Amino acid sequence: MTKFIGLIGYPIKHSVSPYFQQAALDSYHLDIRYEAWETSPEKLEAVVTGLREPRNLGANVTVPYKEAVLPLLDEVDDLAGLIGAVNTIVKRDNRLLGFNTDAHGFLEGLRQEGHFDPEGKRVVVLGAGGAARAVCFALVREKVSSLIIINRTPVRAETLAETLRSYIGDSSPSLYSGLRPAGSEGLSTEVITLPGQNLSSGETFTHCHLIVNCTSVGMKHSPQESKSPFDIEVIPPGVLVYDLVYNPYPTRLLELAGKAGANILGGLAMLVYQGAASFELWTGKKAPVDIMLDKARKVLIGGKR
Ligand code: NAP
Repeated sequence: MTKFIGLIGYPIKHSVSPYFQQAALDSYHLDIRYEAWETSPEKLEAVVTGLREPRNLGANVTVPYKEAVLPLLDEVDDLAGLIGAVNTIVKRDNRLLGFNTDAHGFLEGLRQEGHFDPEGKRVVVLGAGGAARAVCFALVREKVSSLIIINRTPVRAETLAETLRSYIGDSSPSLYSGLRPAGSEGLSTEVITLPGQNLSSGETFTHCHLIVNCTSVGMKHSPQESKSPFDIEVIPPGVLVYDLVYNPYPTRLLELAGKAGANILGGLAMLVYQGAASFELWTGKKAPVDIMLDKARKVLIGGKR
């Protein structure tokens, strides 16, 4: 019987995941179809429940449902629980398990394509939505020395910073080590928030090694397409600018960063590496990352489907 994996989101007609996931499944000659399941809010519960049908193996979850699916699952792994968002559902023994592979995808993109080791580095993160939460937890766990979070809505940045600080605080030596959150031992990142107007000040970025755009500014098919979250004047040469937005490539931000003498990294590698981790969870097989990257690039940049 043909098995199915779905992408649950709304809208998802521009997604490239079905193309590179199908290429990966086909490379193993698996009788599995990866399909885009565009799901309106009132259908979400029924679609997630439908994953229990024998023909379904699991799903990816994207905007706007990464948080909304949590109560519909039987179990959520530690990292997804910390981040508060699930982007991968795996069915095991008819139980729906939730994972977050965005954090892993972000770090793999940073290391493999950005050739950047985050430990001990100073980082500025723009945004405080689901992607920013995954990115900030990943960076704190990789022991960056400082993290500045800037968001259009300051209260969201402060809430995220507080969550990170309490996670880091829980890692300080304690007699009750059995109560610490898993994996948080020995963390010491300084977490700071700044108001959005600091984006126009060069001082905000002067000493940083990495800037990550986790906002949707610059995204294709959005009102902010062709916009950058900040101007060329504030970008220090030599910094790495990582834009999670993967379409278009390069984004306006990356164009400006390149002109300023910064190193640049688009969001495509993160997209593929998070998808590769999901593929391994569903199939138990090593993801053919080169095939996935190649297909994603052809679809996005070359327009080949
Ligand atoms: P989200 O939860 O909706 O968060 C959106 C973020 O963007 C919020 O911080 C929001 O600020 C900010 N924002 C939106 N419009 C803005 C504007 N006009 N000016 C300034 N800030 C603005 O979305 P998300 O899931 O975090 O995704 C964010 C971006 O990351 C999207 O472009 C998405 O495609 C991308 N992403 C890429 C990958 C990848 O694999 N490459 C993975 C995940 C996400 P407020 O809090 O003020 O609303």
